[in-house]
Amino acid sequence: MGIIENIVKKVVLQEAVIIAKTQLSESAYRIRLQNDNIAKADFIPGYFLRLGIGIGKDDIPLKDKVRSYSVWGLNKSNGHIDLAIATHSKGIGAEWTKESKSGDKVYFKWKKGNFLVDDTADSYLMIGDLSALSHLYMIRRNLSRDKKIESVLYSQHQGELFPDIDGATPFDFYEMPQNPYDELISRVKEVVPKMTGKKMVYIGGDSRICIALNQYFRKELHWKPKQIKTKPFWNPDKKGLE
Ligand SMILES: Cc1cc2nc3c(=O)[nH]c(=O)nc-3n(C[C@H](O)[C@H](O)[C@H](O)COP(=O)(O)OP(=O)(O)OC[C@H]3O[C@@H](n4cnc5c(N)ncnc54)[C@H](O)[C@@H]3O)c2cc1C
Repeated sequence: MGIIENIVKKVVLQEAVIIAKTQLSESAYRIRLQNDNIAKADFIPGYFLRLGIGIGKDDIPLKDKVRSYSVWGLNKSNGHIDLAIATHSKGIGAEWTKESKSGDKVYFKWKKGNFLVDDTADSYLMIGDLSALSHLYMIRRNLSRDKKIESVLYSQHQGELFPDIDGATPFDFYEMPQNPYDELISRVKEVVPKMTGKKMVYIGGDSRICIALNQYFRKELHWKPKQIKTKPFWNPDKKGLE
């Protein structure tokens, strides 16, 4: 391990231990991390972790050793965090997820971003693929109970979409191909007229869908920027994203 990588590991990142790993579906895993500082974390639903995936592996360049994963569950009394990781990408994050096991050490950093819970609307629409499912579950669980929530969660195989951490299945699941712009627009056209009061949409996952739907909500539906929350989690032409 190089000097800079050692500094990153010891100074920039915190150390956690994997205490459990389970397979959620054919293409997704749950990973539970424990660290003494999690109990003191100043957490807003929507925060994510930056994990140093390949730390210690000299064949991977340092810039390619970081992957971001949303916090799906946080248990302050036990000091643990749950992540849900999709493996369609087959990159270093997916490989690490498949190979990791209880007892492994992980290096991480908290990240805030702005794809956070926002309770100011009356009705919500959640749109995303397998990679964004856990993030959208976290947002939904932390909205007030009186909110009306519509959803379009999709994957190439519907069975890959897993229930929330508490076993709930509050979202509508769809089998759709990658980058399903037309399919999503036709669902949006059905769902939006049912939404009442102040409306908000969360769109996460494939960057092509985030960009195209953001345009659609702004230009076709004339929604204001504050009503549209998007976060690209991956881009077909890039590795990692943040
Ligand atoms: C803020 C944020 C939060 C995130 N949270 C999560 C999360 O909770 N769970 C999660 O699974 N991912 C999440 N991601 C995505 C994650 O960081 C990685 O980008 C993803 O896991 C792919 O990493 P990789 O190393 O396996 O593949 P990479 O080496 O990054 O990519 C390899 C190839 O796979 C493609 N690819 C990447 N992701 C997908 C996908 N989902 N489907 C199809 N092709 C893909 C890439 O475009 C590339 O061509 C998040 C990203 C961000 C920015």
